[in-house]
Amino acid sequence: MIIVPEKEIAGLIGRAEAFDAVENVFAAMSSGAAYNFPVIREAIGHADALYGFKSGFDRSSLALGLKSGGYWPGNADKGLTNHQSTVFLFDADTGQAKAVVGGNLLTALRTAAASAVSIKHLARKDAKVLGMIGAGHQSAFQMRAAVEQRNFEKIIGWNFHPEMLSRLEETASELGLPYESVDLDRMGAEADVIISITSSFDPILMAGQVTEGTHIACMGTDTKGKQEVDAELVATATLFTDEVAQSATIGECQHAVASGIVSRDNINEIGAVINGTHPGRTSESEITLFDGTGVGLQDLAVASAAVDLAVRKGVALQVDF
Ligand code: NAD
Repeated sequence: MIIVPEKEIAGLIGRAEAFDAVENVFAAMSSGAAYNFPVIREAIGHADALYGFKSGFDRSSLALGLKSGGYWPGNADKGLTNHQSTVFLFDADTGQAKAVVGGNLLTALRTAAASAVSIKHLARKDAKVLGMIGAGHQSAFQMRAAVEQRNFEKIIGWNFHPEMLSRLEETASELGLPYESVDLDRMGAEADVIISITSSFDPILMAGQVTEGTHIACMGTDTKGKQEVDAELVATATLFTDEVAQSATIGECQHAVASGIVSRDNINEIGAVINGTHPGRTSESEITLFDGTGVGLQDLAVASAAVDLAVRKGVALQVDF
């Protein structure tokens, strides 16, 4: 069995590899070659932790396994990341344990890759202004991946906690792009692409604020009850997601579906656009919305890529198991 420790991941897999892995697995999900197993998520009654598994199988790449992970709110006080993830891969031909891979950085890379895939396939080609809603841990990964998809000339940002906005400014500066903090009216009026990556339980961006032709990637809502944009905006947009079942129950579309203004049939798989079986954006004026709920197959795809790279670069630990 191979072990790829968390500390090796940064030196192994970058945005380009994560992007390819995620784009390929979204395509495989849509063609029926890959599917996610039901998600397990439990409040374990200890350390205030939420713990669970995301798992699946991709017959095209033979990635089989699970991501075990969760949220330990007290970790920061111990100098640890609150979100903790580990990916376990199995040999699809024998069922034997194949690899254990540190999953913390991989989670950020695969989540950023998902919105970047949506921008590649759905944003207007002439998009110039990138809007960021959210300034937490994931936001910097999101921004770095997004700017590789279009010739963005400016970043604008908004966050519920303004004291965190310096992260967006610093990341934009690292990318050599001008940055400005704006209110939500300006966000909607000026941004060609908007990424939301917050842990909000109330709508932040409203339908009346967003202009024609915008692409929105809603990446923060991954649990029942969370919400980043109002249901009317969801109903106005042409909808895409990683997995329709998750989008309608734990993703950004959950509220519009629950209130009956959007039906599951109106939510399209991004994989269908990648495979060319859905046209994606069909006009310059359309608002497109990608609901990135986060699926186990994304984790397996990037972990498999990390294992291949670790073996190639000689940093994989081999263990008799
Ligand atoms: P973080 O704790 O570092 O940052 C949280 C962000 O949410 C900050 O911008 C904060 O200001 C904002 N926020 C907190 N409370 C808010 C409120 N009441 N209203 C509006 N905004 C609020 O978290 P992170 O690691 O950056 O993750 C952000 C979100 O992304 C989380 O909800 C996380 O669960 C989600 N996430 C989704 C995926 C996916 O695949 N879709 C993957 C990883 C993380």
